[in-house]
Amino acid sequence: MKIRAFVGLGANLGNSAQHLADAVAALRSLSSTDDVMCSSFYRSAPLDAPGPDYLNAVVSLHTQLPPHALLEALQRIEQAQGRDRTFRHAPRTLDLDLLLYGDQIISTSGLVVPHPRLHERAFVLYPLAELAPGLQVPGLSAVQALLPAVKGQRLQRLEKPV
Ligand code: AMP
Repeated sequence: MKIRAFVGLGANLGNSAQHLADAVAALRSLSSTDDVMCSSFYRSAPLDAPGPDYLNAVVSLHTQLPPHALLEALQRIEQAQGRDRTFRHAPRTLDLDLLLYGDQIISTSGLVVPHPRLHERAFVLYPLAELAPGLQVPGLSAVQALLPAVKGQRLQRLEKPV
């Protein structure tokens, strides 16, 4: 059985659009995974940190990978694209977060789903609502009901292709 999962993508170093496009290509080639769809790309201001604007997107996919295996696959893609963690919130070539895994609520030391900051971030909620306007966020509410609280955050949807 395949589960619909959502992955958040962010990049703010170098050619961010290329990093996001490469990450989407890597997600398309994951085993036991299909129906990979990407939202528009969005430009957002960095939260709690200096540095250039981020490019963000959300990907929806259907997968047979269990959640921890999916997270490991995301971490491998991050590593392969040369992410260099110097400090918390440091600029990064690519950050991948597992936002949602079906309607599951997961809370282990290495994986928390829904992603704990999902509801605070316009750059996650708007692309999520673009891909899945009728989505219910497990343990929270309809994605549409979460949008007003983040409306003040600077976010610009880019026309495709970037
Ligand atoms: P960050 O690079 O700031 O996204 O944090 C990565 C760390 O958060 C890793 O150690 C993951 O094990 C942990 N983590 C916990 N829940 C999640 C999640 N839903 N998506 C991505 N990383 C997660």
